[in-house]
Amino acid sequence: LVTITRLIYTVGKTEQWKAPILTELDIDNISHKLHDDPEIIQMASRDYGHIVHEFPLAVFRPSSIDDIATLIKSSYNSFAPFGIAARGQGHSTHGQAMARDGVVVDMANLRKQRNGVAISVSKDPLMGHYADVGGEQLWIDVLHTTLKHGLAPVSWTDYLYLTVGGTLSNAGISGQSFRYGPQISNVHEMDVITGKGEFVTCSSQKNLELFHAVLGGLGQFGVIARARIALEPAPKRVKWVRLLYSDFFAFTKDQERLISINGRKQKNALDFLEGMLLMNQGPINNWRSSFFPLSDHPRISSLITEHSILYCLEVAKYYDEQTEINVDKEIQVLLQGLAYIPGFYYEKNVSYVEFLNRVRSGELKLQSQGLWDVPHPWLNLFIPKSQILDFNSRVFKDIVLKRNISSGPVLVYPTNRNKWDDRMSASIPDEEVFYTVGFLHSSGFDTWKAYDAQNSEILEFCRDAGIKVKQYLPNHSTQEDWTNHFGAKWIKFLERKHQFDPRMILSPGQKIFHKQL
Ligand code: FAD
Repeated sequence: LVTITRLIYTVGKTEQWKAPILTELDIDNISHKLHDDPEIIQMASRDYGHIVHEFPLAVFRPSSIDDIATLIKSSYNSFAPFGIAARGQGHSTHGQAMARDGVVVDMANLRKQRNGVAISVSKDPLMGHYADVGGEQLWIDVLHTTLKHGLAPVSWTDYLYLTVGGTLSNAGISGQSFRYGPQISNVHEMDVITGKGEFVTCSSQKNLELFHAVLGGLGQFGVIARARIALEPAPKRVKWVRLLYSDFFAFTKDQERLISINGRKQKNALDFLEGMLLMNQGPINNWRSSFFPLSDHPRISSLITEHSILYCLEVAKYYDEQTEINVDKEIQVLLQGLAYIPGFYYEKNVSYVEFLNRVRSGELKLQSQGLWDVPHPWLNLFIPKSQILDFNSRVFKDIVLKRNISSGPVLVYPTNRNKWDDRMSASIPDEEVFYTVGFLHSSGFDTWKAYDAQNSEILEFCRDAGIKVKQYLPNHSTQEDWTNHFGAKWIKFLERKHQFDPRMILSPGQKIFHKQL
């Protein structure tokens, strides 16, 4: 704390132009918001992964966006710039929101300060309805606030207790992405504090380079202070269906057929499509959702024993009072001719909020059992469609079954590349259709290394077999890996870093840039 405060005071005394860069008032205003009590430092050196621990010198608890701008300015203008990481919910798994020997900005504190005022809904003749949302806000609060206006965003993550700034720094994907694109495709405008401490409003019309850099930019170019999110009329209810397959080829063919109907306004399209593996390694109903009736568990279990892996296709269609009479028919038409195992069709009818917030009850249950704050050696991958069959036979059927340690959901679902904007920083495969595969492991504190070893084996296998995977929520530590990760976008990524965060201050926990200049 002493080091950071001294650096900040030095900046205040530096007269680069006529006036000091930071006034005494600026400095007084932020210095008492820096904390170094052991408990606070501990909090900032932990994340959902419980694998990486990087200790900051201080945690900054801002009460306003100006506070964050002042902090960044002080580092940028210092003779020894310090790393600064915005910490949303710290739901990363490999230290991405940490700042070793730097300052972690506790965005939850800003959320507390701006409680109830940082989400507002408006309408524009060109844009339609939108919500202006603080980057520190949680998606669950965005949902509840916009629903009061009968509106909601269209693109979600499976879990809603994540921050807007955190998911927009990655992409924000879920079963709606095939139709509406990831969350980053549904942002009209942002306010961003760059690595120079400048407050910039950007959109695809204004300061577009910064706009595209920040979306999927892993926190490298600026702190998202506000995002303008597209809204549409919210449905009331959801018809939610799961179908079981034993044949991966048939499963993926059906998934691909269903996501080929994907126009935003196309009435006969599904609203959500995902998929997952069912294996003997875990319970049939996992913590993320309980769906299959208990009475059916024995027959599902015996099918799993017979085939080793079952594939579960999951789809949903939204409806309200006006569309209620047609929804069953529409689902029937869409699912006609699918090659799932006859008799293994399950459906539920739930409210829209219950559907979107489906992971929460599992979280609360795990929390009550002390099983939420455990290591999460996750691996999330994007895989080109042309290589997904290989991936199934060599990874799911070989590596995963042989190691027999998988515990936690394994998601598999395709999406459409044309719903992404290639000018944004997010890195995805080149093919028109690509799959998301998420190994969402939970483990004990002494067993996570076995999962990590499995993850490494999968990545090594893909590299050797020429399967062109991209990591989502990437965890790389060498320049070579990052260069490969961004591929053709790497040069642009570097140029943008030099333009918006030339002293390499922001989100050092991503381990993309190692040296501060
Ligand atoms: P953090 O982990 O705190 O931060 C992530 C990165 O963003 C860091 O580099 C940080 O410095 C930076 N950052 C944070 N806030 C800002 C800001 N305001 N401006 C700029 N940079 C910022 N992801 C999906 O896409 N789809 C899912 O379905 C999904 N499900 C999940 C379920 C669970 C249970 C969990 C734990 C995670 C899930 N995720 C999912 C991953 C999630 O999107 C990432 O963890 C993401 O980073 C958001 O978490 P966070 O808000 O805690 O951000």
